[in-house]
Amino acid sequence: MEQKSINMLKQRRAKLMKSLTALTPVIDGSFAEVKVTCGKSNCKCASGEKHTSYKLVKKIQGRSKTTHIPRELVEEVKTWVAENRRIKALMKEIASLSEQIIRLHVKTNRAANQNRKSAAE
Ligand SMILES: [Zn+2]
Repeated sequence: MEQKSINMLKQRRAKLMKSLTALTPVIDGSFAEVKVTCGKSNCKCASGEKHTSYKLVKKIQGRSKTTHIPRELVEEVKTWVAENRRIKALMKEIASLSEQIIRLHVKTNRAANQNRKSAAE
């Protein structure tokens, strides 16, 4: 029974590992849209119609680091962020399955040793 569930966990892990290949480049951080003024007094933003600026926000030791994303790269960077998130979630799930496999393995061995001992007595 326990051996069966180890195999089930391993099958699930193998399946996840097949989708582990990144389909686009990846990038750390999250995408953010911010409203900004450019500082020119004759610009429409001075009267409240602000410009949209795009940023990549990344947390490093509790502080956020932002990187400006040029408009022409916005759509591309959005896919990198999404792919990074997908790969990270997969990695997390695979790592968690590996942990479950170890735990179950230890438990199974302990039960097998217990049986061997009682058979010898
Ligand atoms: Zn402006």
